[in-house]
Amino acid sequence: EGGELSPDTANSIAGAMKEWAIEHGATHFTHWFQPMTGITAEKHEAFIMPEGEGGVIIDFSGKELIRGESDASSFPSGGLRATFEARGYTAWDPTSYAFIKDRTLCIPTAYCSFTGEVLDKKTPLLRSMRAINTQSLRVLRAMGITDVNRVVPTVGPEQEYFLVDEQMLLKRPDLRYTGRTLLGARPVKGQELDDQYYGALKTRVSAFMRDLDEELWKLGVSARTEHNEVAPGQHELAPVFTNANTASDHNQITMELMQKTARKHGLACLLHEKPFDGVNGSGKHNNWSLSTDKGRNLLKPGSNPAQNLLFLLFFTAVIKAVDEHQDLLRISVSSAGNDLRLGGNEAPPAIISMFVGDDLESILDAVVNNSDFVLGESFMDTGIASIPKFRRDTTDRNRTSPFAFTGNKFEFRMPGSSFSIAGPNIVLNTIVADALEDVADELENSSNLEYTIQQIIQRTVREHRRIIFNGNNYSKEWAVEAGKRKLANFKNAISAFKRFGDEKNIALFEKHGIYTRSEIESRQEILLDEYAKEVRIEALTMSDMVRRSIFPAVSGFMGKLAKTKSALAVCGVPAVYETKTIESLSRLIQESEDAVDELDAAIRKMAGMPVEAAAEFAAECLRPIMSRLRTSIDECELYCDQKDWPFPTYSELLFSVT
Ligand code: ADP
Ligand code: MG
Repeated sequence: EGGELSPDTANSIAGAMKEWAIEHGATHFTHWFQPMTGITAEKHEAFIMPEGEGGVIIDFSGKELIRGESDASSFPSGGLRATFEARGYTAWDPTSYAFIKDRTLCIPTAYCSFTGEVLDKKTPLLRSMRAINTQSLRVLRAMGITDVNRVVPTVGPEQEYFLVDEQMLLKRPDLRYTGRTLLGARPVKGQELDDQYYGALKTRVSAFMRDLDEELWKLGVSARTEHNEVAPGQHELAPVFTNANTASDHNQITMELMQKTARKHGLACLLHEKPFDGVNGSGKHNNWSLSTDKGRNLLKPGSNPAQNLLFLLFFTAVIKAVDEHQDLLRISVSSAGNDLRLGGNEAPPAIISMFVGDDLESILDAVVNNSDFVLGESFMDTGIASIPKFRRDTTDRNRTSPFAFTGNKFEFRMPGSSFSIAGPNIVLNTIVADALEDVADELENSSNLEYTIQQIIQRTVREHRRIIFNGNNYSKEWAVEAGKRKLANFKNAISAFKRFGDEKNIALFEKHGIYTRSEIESRQEILLDEYAKEVRIEALTMSDMVRRSIFPAVSGFMGKLAKTKSALAVCGVPAVYETKTIESLSRLIQESEDAVDELDAAIRKMAGMPVEAAAEFAAECLRPIMSRLRTSIDECELYCDQKDWPFPTYSELLFSVT
């Protein structure tokens, strides 16, 4: 109920948790937390405590359950903490389930600095859930609904990933160090036949998925759907939705177990947003809704949405929130990895708009025009008598929309596959809480509820209509139209990150008690720093692969060709293939030499740059040089003897799992 825990109660709970954990073979415990970068952090401690002469007892106190202390100096803090006060605290989050992994009792915790500043992803998520609960309850109360005690955001993230043979991964430094291929010529077959999507599972893949499901179920993660995705080697896992906090913890566990379980099967699981050029990247569709503690989904239109005022109030509040805070949503899904995916004619575009479907759009129109709306009968008839007619989903799936209403929830499709879903949900919860706050203010001061509701809905739709777009988000016309509507269009992560600290955003987060000004500034710095470092590692890896593996291989191959050429000359045979190939390769090697020199010089230049400049430089200087270098090297690959190429090819990688 959100109350406080007494030390006595904490001690009893700690005792029970310890017994339960030991019964299940645990020897250690850890405060499990989510620092700002990386997946999760843990520091294992044994349950044993020395007692008397050489004896030990098995102990675990309420204090150890509630609070942990760790040296925080190696976790990113974005300047919040000087090393002399590097102490960090972890605090038990009793609203998320503890679990046993690797004989260790893992206790989900929040993480903050000695001075109380937040250093993790969980704390602001919990705060945003508190904010949306407060404002939703106000709206419900004002509407005369008094039996609801809590409103929670519910989340079900669909997780996309790739599987490749582990042996292939071990031979590719780019995959190992950066999670994606930095080089690689197009495969002879890609995803053009669309024969992989929902296709039958390969034997190894299905063994992996079965094992993964079982491992997840053991930890209480309700994995439910597993299927093939669009690209070869790409798959998806979706859990049953739950509250945002648990969903976020569970998604972290899922990503970790995916990688571990893959290794057990001789596979490697790639969570990067764009592991391969030329085939689809991976995202994480964040399905989001609001539920009362009585189990009522506040975004469920019901059989007559036009009459469902409560639904319309919450629904239009989301429309307003998304329109007013496009920048924050964009920031929450930005990263060096996702920059390679967003807007690339596959994944959702970088421009945020909302799909609501024709029916709901007509309802909104009807409200604005004060006209009546009659839901048409929409039955699907397959024309075959033995197949029953079924009701068509009134919200057809628009697969191109970045933010789609899908029947009784919103699906935010922009987050990247490797993201923690905490970030996008912190923003979603906060911006919707803010919109609901305005609604609650008006309702509470109203003397004619029905009239006020009508006014609110009408005004919201009129003012925020521009964010609704039901058409094809990949089309060029939409980019033009979006420009006319003055929708935000950030070209990359950096331009979005720079807006995080705008006064409007600081005011919003401070008002709802999510982040302080300094917490936002520190987060902004971490995001920029992470971007710069990630791209720098990519650049270094690429340079290394080219100089130390590809150049020697190509040179060796050219030597072989030259030898053959002279041998053929002795017999008087014209060496057409040899001559032409040597020519082409020399040209390409020249180009690559120039590009890799340029890349190395750029990497050196980046050293010592301030964070923001370094991030900008990474996006605008390093990445373009890398793509030029890649073009030449990928062409080289197509001229070389397959046996001489030092890395597994795209065909080998994408079709490595049978
Ligand atoms: P799709 O056709 O997109 O795969 P599904 O109905 O299978 O859609 O749902 C996808 C995800 O959405 C699942 O993780 C599911 O649990 C989640 N989901 C369904 N209803 C809700 C809800 N009310 N709130 C949050 N997530 C939900
Ligand atoms: Mg979906």
